[in-house]
Amino acid sequence: MAAAAAAKIAEVRETTRVERIGAHSHIRGLGLDESLEARHVSQGLVGQVTARRAVGIVLQMVRDGRIAGRAVLLAGQPGTGKTALATALAAALGLDTPFTSMAGSEIYSLEMSKTEALTQAIRKSIGVRIKEETEIIEGEVVEVQIERPATGVGTKVGKLILKTTDMETVYDLGGKMIDSILKEKVQSGDVITIDKATGKITRLGRSFARARDYDATGQQTRFVQCPEGELQKGKKWCTLVWYESRINIIEFIGDTGEIKTEVREQINGKVAEWREEGKAEIIPGVLFIDEVHMLDIECFSFLNRALENEMSPIVIMATNRGITKIRGTTYKSPHGIPLDLLDRTIIIPTQPYEEKELREILSIRCEEEDCQMSDNALTVLTRISKETSLRYGMQLIMTSSLIARKRKAHEVDVEDIKRAYQLFFDEGRSVQFLREYQQEFMFNELDDKDDLEM
Ligand code: ATP
Repeated sequence: MAAAAAAKIAEVRETTRVERIGAHSHIRGLGLDESLEARHVSQGLVGQVTARRAVGIVLQMVRDGRIAGRAVLLAGQPGTGKTALATALAAALGLDTPFTSMAGSEIYSLEMSKTEALTQAIRKSIGVRIKEETEIIEGEVVEVQIERPATGVGTKVGKLILKTTDMETVYDLGGKMIDSILKEKVQSGDVITIDKATGKITRLGRSFARARDYDATGQQTRFVQCPEGELQKGKKWCTLVWYESRINIIEFIGDTGEIKTEVREQINGKVAEWREEGKAEIIPGVLFIDEVHMLDIECFSFLNRALENEMSPIVIMATNRGITKIRGTTYKSPHGIPLDLLDRTIIIPTQPYEEKELREILSIRCEEEDCQMSDNALTVLTRISKETSLRYGMQLIMTSSLIARKRKAHEVDVEDIKRAYQLFFDEGRSVQFLREYQQEFMFNELDDKDDLEM
């Protein structure tokens, strides 16, 4: 049932992605030329050319795939395009490289420990590409029959009845398959995989009632073909976590979403074996951690260690903090990141935008949001964004467009921008308002001289 629900959610998410416009949906790549120089406006990105060139070099590094365990920090003021650059990198990498994105705060959950969340994020950023076009059949064993020759010598013969999705298939067992079955002690009720090319049988574990439940929805047992397994549409690889969760579901469904160490070790062993046999290739990808100052000292120390592993992805972090406390300590450090981690990090600064660049970004967003805006209105909106923030300016696009639509105009004009500006406060005016009317709010604790820290 859980699987059915999960499938439903996945479906819903899919449609939302299609229909809604996200904050970075205008970004289609890094906009670099062949020599990795940034074009001023390209693929939805505007300006920030030095940082974009630097990210281009990171892109090359990831594509080469030889260097593991590097950390990159995008550091700059709010709204200077750090997340935009990471999104652009993901788009440039395409579906051939794993890219995982998370916010620092996502590790704080009751579902799993912080280090488990980080481990999963790291392992999600590592892809395994199976080189051989081999078909792996996975299913639950209904029955195994092996006949030994009466004389005790000679070849054994046998049959295996395997249940996949909703059908049972009978396999005639050859010598190799019988050997694997005996070696793995396969019996009815086990969930196994058969490598069609080699005839090798791997026992994944016993299926419990819950796993069978999962079977009934047709989600769990199926023909798995990697590359291009059904679960990873369009991708030519699967991640370590993908393998782990499959085994985890069969072995044990925990309440916490944590993956058991044994399962993880099993996968490590399997992948190492595949690599040795030349069957699999590891593709270290990118793990992007936004708002990285939200991590605490334990996480930083864990990350520091994890980066030393040869299977580590390239970790890209982003922060808008200056010198601030490292969470979980009383120490201050640049960006709230411990010095030993900073020491192994290459830092890419992002710069605030000039008015001309703001105008171009806003204009791209107008197009993205299907909003016609007069030149004068765009000038006013640019000025407002300069005085307040780019994000606030972007919010005014949709709001002023709705206001314009209300007066049945096809184009947003200066009046609509002004009206939206009056209706919706930016952060500065909101603070001013609170200062003026603080007595009328509940739980007011602000002193006149207090600085507000966000
Ligand atoms: P914060 O520190 O607050 O998280 P940030 O540096 O991550 O900010 P973004 O979220 O990347 O900022 O940028 C704010 C908005 O501006 C986003 O919608 C982003 O897509 C857009 N944007 C930023 N820089 C550019 C750019 N150079 N070209 C096009 N769009 C941009």
